[in-house]
Amino acid sequence: MENCIFCKIVHGQIPNFTVYQDEHTLPFLDIHPVTKGHTVVIPKVHAETLLDLNGEITKEFFLGVQHALERVEKILSPDGFSIGWNHGRAGGQAVPHLHVHIIPRSEGDGGGSMHSIIKKPSDVSVEELAKLFA
Ligand code: 5GP
Ligand code: ZN
Repeated sequence: MENCIFCKIVHGQIPNFTVYQDEHTLPFLDIHPVTKGHTVVIPKVHAETLLDLNGEITKEFFLGVQHALERVEKILSPDGFSIGWNHGRAGGQAVPHLHVHIIPRSEGDGGGSMHSIIKKPSDVSVEELAKLFA
């Protein structure tokens, strides 16, 4: 993808601080870290979201996420992590190339959990909703 900033990083057109690398995955330090060691992990192939990634590559990609996590854990030994990704514009995704954020956390750092991202409870019961999935 010509105008994709993360594809440019994969192809060496924009420099990055690489955390770990394998055939399918490139984790690098986020340029605007929210905590020390904030890392983004991208598949080397362009895919806007997880739904666009080939299933076989998805397996390799998440192995890459695990390896990146091991590396950050070994080097920085934080107390914990927030790990996840913003999916789609409404989900907060600014760069349209799939990337998993690995955010090191420390006890009492003042940050929240996944549950603090949004609080807008469903207007139908869980039981009603479950019928759609039955
Ligand atoms: P998003 O909001 O799309 O989930 O997050 C995109 C992330 O990519 C942001 O945390 C932002 O700081 C990071 N980012 C954007 N451009 C660059 C870049 O050129 N280099 C690096 N290392 N990180 C970037
Ligand atoms: Zn891309």
